[in-house]
Order: sequence, then structure tokens, then C-alpha cells
Amino acid sequence: MKLIATSNSATETLTATTVNDGAISVGISSCLLGNEVRYNGGHSHSKLCTRVLAEHFNFRSFCPEVATGLGVPRPTLRLVGDPDSPRMVFSNDQQQDVTDRFKQAVTPMLGALAQLDGYILMKNSPSCGLERVKVYQANGHPHTQRTMGLFTQALKERYPDLPIEEEGRLNDDRLRENFILRVYAHHHFRMQVDGQLSLGRLMAFHRDYKYVLMAHNQREYRALGRLLAQASAGQLTELRDQYHHRFMQAIAKPASRRNHCNVLLHIFGYLKRSVQQQARHQILNLIERYRLGEVNLATPLAMLEHYVQLHGSDYIRAQRYLQPYPARLGLANRL
Ligand code: SF4
Repeated sequence: MKLIATSNSATETLTATTVNDGAISVGISSCLLGNEVRYNGGHSHSKLCTRVLAEHFNFRSFCPEVATGLGVPRPTLRLVGDPDSPRMVFSNDQQQDVTDRFKQAVTPMLGALAQLDGYILMKNSPSCGLERVKVYQANGHPHTQRTMGLFTQALKERYPDLPIEEEGRLNDDRLRENFILRVYAHHHFRMQVDGQLSLGRLMAFHRDYKYVLMAHNQREYRALGRLLAQASAGQLTELRDQYHHRFMQAIAKPASRRNHCNVLLHIFGYLKRSVQQQARHQILNLIERYRLGEVNLATPLAMLEHYVQLHGSDYIRAQRYLQPYPARLGLANRL
């Protein structure tokens, strides 16, 4: 991984900031990479992003307020008016409405984000916040209803299935694991299915993600299987869009310990006949200890994966559940 200097100029606002050959591209609020683009000339450097995730992702940084040409430093901005359709103004001069200017600057940039597999945003910002952003009333008090920043709104409208998360929430082990799982699943779908769309490729993707889906939502796993089984080859594009949307929704929340146990036992079922009794007892014991919270998910998973590699069929070895993202991220160690 190497770091590349970013530009703060309004004409060069979307920047490839880290380069890992063959890595996944993820968008990020520019200030999180330590770029001094905040209203006061400071930054909001995230060590998690620059020291851990940058090893795996090519970050594409963007500051929508700089892209709007508001300069650094600049007066702070706030959202005002109707929380369902807020306007963006300067906090110290609410007559200066920059909403249209902001949208005009951001819209052309959105087209350049089609190859991204995720986006990490800075919390609370009227531009980049994902939720809980204040919208002020005419009397100067915020509404109880909170919203998302204007850039985030535009991003979600254009790419409704893109995994998006706030940097602060990534400090939660389960939310971090879920976000990274979704980023890799989004990437695998683009590579395996979008590149050469066919019903066979959609079915192969569904097959490989069977146990990931089951860990998150068994009912949706079965419903998506029926959707593919009943499909005709003539509606491929709509089918892909529908499948992708429902798949990303199905894995949008962390899987429960109970569901993980269920999946581990299913995978164990493939080894019953080929693994000796002592090893079978060890595997079951580890799954039970995981169920009780005595060991983390990585412990039974590593054991199962070992035996799947030795004795499993091609079908079970290809299951993404066993390695949904690089093991060195250490995510299952914290579940
Ligand atoms: S939160 Fe967004 S708009 Fe604000 S400085 Fe960071 S990148 Fe720029």
C-alpha cells in the first residue's frame, strides 16, 4: 500500500488516495484520511482507516464542501427547514443558501463512483453524516427528527445498494465486521455476476453465498433461491437488480450468534462421514463453547475450515462463509 498526496482544489476533488494493486475501491470522507479540509483547516484522521483498512482498500477520498468551492477555512454549514427536504446554509448567515450550488457540484462526481464497493463517512456533518444530522428550525432550535447529510442523500439515491457506514460506528466489532462483509460481497457480485451477466452466474453466486445468507436471514435465502429458480432468461437485467437489492438488504445487519451456530452445524454435517469421531467431538465442542460465549467465532470456524479443506467437496469448499474477507483482518476473532 502506498499513500498518495491528495489535492484540496475544487477542480480535483475525487482522489485515489491509497493504492493496493487489485484491492477493492472504497469511497471515504476526505477529512478521515487526515486531509486538512474541514471548515477550520483541520482534519478528522481515522487510524482505523489509514492503518488497518488501507491495507485492504483503495480509498477514493472526496470532500463535497471543497468540491462546492467553499474554500478552507470556511464558515460552518448547517441544515435548516423541513427535515424531509432540508436546505443548506451558512451557520452565521442563513440568508446564504448554498443547497443548489452544493448539489450542482456533487452530482457530476457521483457518476465517477460506479466502481466503488463501499463508502465510509464522517459523522454529524451536514454534508457527509449518515444519520442523526441536526436540522434547525427558524427559532434556532433543532427539530427532534434528524436526517442525513446532503452528499449522503445523493449518494444513497444514486447507489441504493452500496454498503455505507459512518467511521465512528466501525469501532463496534459487529458493525465493522458486517460493513466489511458487505463490501466484499458487493465486490464479488460485481466481479462474478455483473462482468458477464447470465442466469448461471447468478445461481453460482447464490450457491457460494448460501451460508452467509443463512447466517443473516434464512427466509430470504430460500426466497431468493425461488426467485432464481422461477426466472426466465429474458428478464436478466431486472432479475439481477432485484436479486442484488434483496441480497444486500438481507445481509445489512450483523448475523446473530444463534444463526452462526446453526450454519456451523450445517457445515459440520458435510464432514460427519469423513472425519474421525475424536475430531467430530472436538468440532461440536467448539461450536457449543461458541454458543455459550466462551470462545469467539474464529475458533470453531478455523477448525471447520481445516477439515473442509482436507475432506470437503468442491461445493462446501467454495462457500464464502468460510472466508468472506481476508482472514488477516481478524474480524471473526472479535465476534
Ligand atoms: S465531513 Fe465531509 S464535507 Fe466535512 S470536511 Fe469531511 S469530507 Fe469535507
